[in-house]
Amino acid sequence: MQGEDTPDRPDDDRRIMQEAIERAIALGASVAGFVPARLLRDCPSARAEGYRGWDNFVGSVIILGLYHDPAMPEMDWWEEGRSTPGDRMLRGMTTAIADWLSQEYGRAARDIPYQIDAGGIFLKDAAALAGLGCIGRNNLVIVPGYGPRVRFRALWTDLEVEATAPTSLPSPCEECHRPCETACPQQALAGGRYFRERCLRRMDADRMEAAAQKQKSGQKQPVDHCRTCDLVCPAGRMSGKKEYTRVRGFFTP
Ligand code: SF4
Ligand code: SF4
Repeated sequence: MQGEDTPDRPDDDRRIMQEAIERAIALGASVAGFVPARLLRDCPSARAEGYRGWDNFVGSVIILGLYHDPAMPEMDWWEEGRSTPGDRMLRGMTTAIADWLSQEYGRAARDIPYQIDAGGIFLKDAAALAGLGCIGRNNLVIVPGYGPRVRFRALWTDLEVEATAPTSLPSPCEECHRPCETACPQQALAGGRYFRERCLRRMDADRMEAAAQKQKSGQKQPVDHCRTCDLVCPAGRMSGKKEYTRVRGFFTP
């Protein structure tokens, strides 16, 4: 356990962070990175919508991403009170890393809820700030090697580590004929803008569809949310294998 005022604490924190990131990958995360928590207060979504959710801006937030293979659509099926199987896998990893940080190094750490209204963070902003990808025209994080088919979850820790790698990755959208815009059933991406209300209407319809099926069958029905703008994105076509793992500040592709 480190003393609060140990002079070499920044180096120790950086080493522990590297171990935590490596542990995330060993546990099954497709990508992992971190961002100083204070940067989240002024992230683009917070500037656009006003900050809400997670309110601890000391230490760091570690972000884990898990590739969601289109061949396994059930990883994305959402169940009331249980989230999705993919998110439960991620929560298992964030919890395991938090427990390890506490037991091995006596550091404060805990899983961050997925939903922002339950105390979560703007996860896509955090992933982009961590250098894991860039926000595409489909309003999803495009992760090198995986496209937009990655879901995220985060944990907080009191490790104080300054990020060093650049956050801006080249966007594949520049050279793309934009199938996400034309395929969206709600025209929620028309003209290169993201119309949240239009997308949310589709999400509501997906939930109503699941409720109707439940009523008909008498059995619990997960919600299979629209992911058209994810599936049509050519940036995801090379997915399916780990081309590389980008870990901000430690490794480069
Ligand atoms: S389909 Fe093309 S424009 Fe849309 S997010 Fe993917 S790369 Fe960007
Ligand atoms: S999730 Fe569906 S409705 Fe929402 S922006 Fe993507 S394609 Fe459009």
